[in-house]
Amino acid sequence: MDFDLSDDHRLIQRTVRDFATNEVAPVAEELDREKRFPYELVRKLGALNLMGIPFPQEVGGGGGDTLAYALAVEELTRVDSSVAITVCAHTSLGTQPIYLFGTSEQRAEWLPRLCAGEILGAFGLTEPEAGSDAGNVKTRARLDDGEWVVNGAKQFITNAGTDISGVVCITAVTGADAEGRPEISNLIVPNGTPGYEQGEPYRKMGWNASDTRPLSFTDCRVPAANLLGPRGGGFKQFLHVLDIGRIGVAAMGLGLAQGALDEALAYAQERKAFGQPISKFQAIQGKLADMATEIEAARLLVYKAARLKDKGESFTLTAAQAKLKTGRLAVRCAEEAVQIHGGYGYIEEYPVCRFYRDAKILTIGEGTDEVQQMVIARALGA
Ligand SMILES: Cc1cc2nc3c(=O)[nH]c(=O)nc-3n(C[C@H](O)[C@H](O)[C@H](O)COP(=O)(O)OP(=O)(O)OC[C@H]3O[C@@H](n4cnc5c(N)ncnc54)[C@H](O)[C@@H]3O)c2cc1C
Repeated sequence: MDFDLSDDHRLIQRTVRDFATNEVAPVAEELDREKRFPYELVRKLGALNLMGIPFPQEVGGGGGDTLAYALAVEELTRVDSSVAITVCAHTSLGTQPIYLFGTSEQRAEWLPRLCAGEILGAFGLTEPEAGSDAGNVKTRARLDDGEWVVNGAKQFITNAGTDISGVVCITAVTGADAEGRPEISNLIVPNGTPGYEQGEPYRKMGWNASDTRPLSFTDCRVPAANLLGPRGGGFKQFLHVLDIGRIGVAAMGLGLAQGALDEALAYAQERKAFGQPISKFQAIQGKLADMATEIEAARLLVYKAARLKDKGESFTLTAAQAKLKTGRLAVRCAEEAVQIHGGYGYIEEYPVCRFYRDAKILTIGEGTDEVQQMVIARALGA
């Protein structure tokens, strides 16, 4: 086993850490407070080649691997989750399906602009009646005169309604198989297609500067050539996309936990009570030590999941374990960090207040904790 990062990995880690510190940290509180999408940061991330890290340079990507991507997501989330989820949903969920399942024409049409961050990609899986039970798709698409006619609704979709949103990959029922079961396929729907509407953004607990909306499709017509992958292959495809996506979200949990520890340690060394810095009290030291230890264990799990994927080995189990572990850890570390800040932790000027609100979704999005437990138990043969 080799626990060292390569020079390339260290370089991307340092680059994104500098970017997060110098560009994201100064504006994160304001963007969150004003619920403002970080257009300028996305433009700069695109210019730094960070909007398509794990895709080959031939298709316009950054030419990195999954570990490089996880390191970048970790460093962003250490400072701000809204910017991180924008990158994460765009990369793992929006761009990934087109890269994995697209024809050469579809790849040529979408990947260069997606990887450059000129446009954002979104992934429309969740529906009002299909969340954890993601196969219970009600959105329908029928072929008519060489076009798919889509009708239905999607719920909680990230990145679909910004000024630079370019495309959403959706699941839809396109027929029935031989046994009469719904046949699910993936379709590419460009923003601006008549009949495809994005609703008002949700009022959320956290991730305030990221874009999350309901989508509706009303007799929305896209060319037959917008089918993504084989007809009826949609279920398998989205399961694979979610597997990969979990590594990114696990890196978010890891980054948030680390950011909470960074803030808590710095504050504890500065804040005095009873004549000394609170970091000198054993009760505070215990919290910091537990956080640091759990974070290090979680980091190994996240990097292992990324490594397994990069080596072409099965990573479903480890990715689910990493997602389960880091989501819970992020919630716990954010709470401890607020506790260490005392009353100041409850005030929005302090980043830990935002971290606390941003953490909870990490136990819900891209598969709830209970879904991860199902995936893990299945892999164990239980
Ligand atoms: C901010 C935000 C951004 C999101 N972005 C996207 C996106 O970009 N694209 C997208 O497609 N979706 C997105 N989602 C949706 C997200 O993935 C779902 O909310 C999540 O998968 C849970 O689905 P649900 O909300 O329908 O909850 P439900 O599935 O209704 O779950 C409710 C509860 O029941 C539990 N439960 C359900 N089934 C079982 C079972 N079999 N055993 C035990 N417990 C069970 C769940 O774990 C949960 O605790 C986003 C959500 C949010 C809030």
